[in-house]
Amino acid sequence: EAKGLGSGSIRLFNPEMQQTVSRRLHLETALRRAIEEQALELYMQPQVTHDGKVTGGELLLRWHDEEFGTVAPNEFIPVAESSGLIVPLGNWVIERACEVLQQWSQDPNLSQLRLAINISPRQFRQASFVDYIEASIARYQVPEGKLELELTENMLIDNLTMTIQRMSRLGGAGVRFSLDDFGTGYASLAYLKSLPIYQLKIDQSFVRDVLTDVNDAVIVETIVSLGESLGLEVIAEGVETAAQAESLVELGCTKFQGYYFGRPQPIDYWREQLSSSSGHIQG
Ligand code: C2E
Ligand code: MG
Ligand code: MG
Ligand code: MG
Repeated sequence: EAKGLGSGSIRLFNPEMQQTVSRRLHLETALRRAIEEQALELYMQPQVTHDGKVTGGELLLRWHDEEFGTVAPNEFIPVAESSGLIVPLGNWVIERACEVLQQWSQDPNLSQLRLAINISPRQFRQASFVDYIEASIARYQVPEGKLELELTENMLIDNLTMTIQRMSRLGGAGVRFSLDDFGTGYASLAYLKSLPIYQLKIDQSFVRDVLTDVNDAVIVETIVSLGESLGLEVIAEGVETAAQAESLVELGCTKFQGYYFGRPQPIDYWREQLSSSSGHIQG
């Protein structure tokens, strides 16, 4: 901020900015150590059909640091992304997901479940990205169609040729793709038919006010019918109440994720719940 133009001094950093930069640097150091020590955790949030049948879950990183306390993914993922730490961190997530899928494939109550992981732009651009996933799938003998990657619209348009190549190779290895935060990015609808996408995730910003804002309801309905026309699954994220769920069902939604159906919990919590209830939870 160049506030002091008149006074003859231009301060590029005000104290607040200085503090932000300093927190970022310290977070980066702490995050690097946490990754080395495998101190981050993966939680899972179930994805369900309207009658409470769990089809799988999304894995979400959790980090509790001694110095910083609990740091939210919305704060540490950007730090990981800008520092490059997202590559070792993302690889750890990939490997953990494959390991869990291998374990679950042995249990008849869990073997149908899919696991979705979030992929960040820098990770997807890594030259070794596809190799790493293929190797992990092979090492853990992950069954076909069980590992799902959540990408965002903007990642697709970054380099279309590369994107198509990588998605096709991964699709051949049994990976499915889901478009996260759908409706908030810039990808043209043409990409939906030219790329091997399996599912659209309606962004939670459209779900939040679906009961009160007719524009949001129309957007949800439009995404649902877009999915139907193109043969894509559609899931609504951020569903917090029964009333939202009912409204979404009326708008044609068939799959849901949100606090109302289940919060992110340690993977083993959901493993125990699901393995003893043949894949259903209260909804
Ligand atoms: P996302 O992929 O869109 O994940 C959904 C977020 O919504 C999660 O936040 C989840 O905890 C939260 N959520 C779920 N249900 C509800 C609900 O009913 N109401 C509300 N208000 N929120 C709900 P979280 O875990 O804080 O993660 C935030 C973002 O951080 C994720 O957004 C994702 O973009 C990123 N992230 C998390 N884990 C990873 C990871 O392993 N790798 C990468 N690259 N990004 C990750
Ligand atoms: Mg996601
Ligand atoms: Mg999302
Ligand atoms: Mg998000």
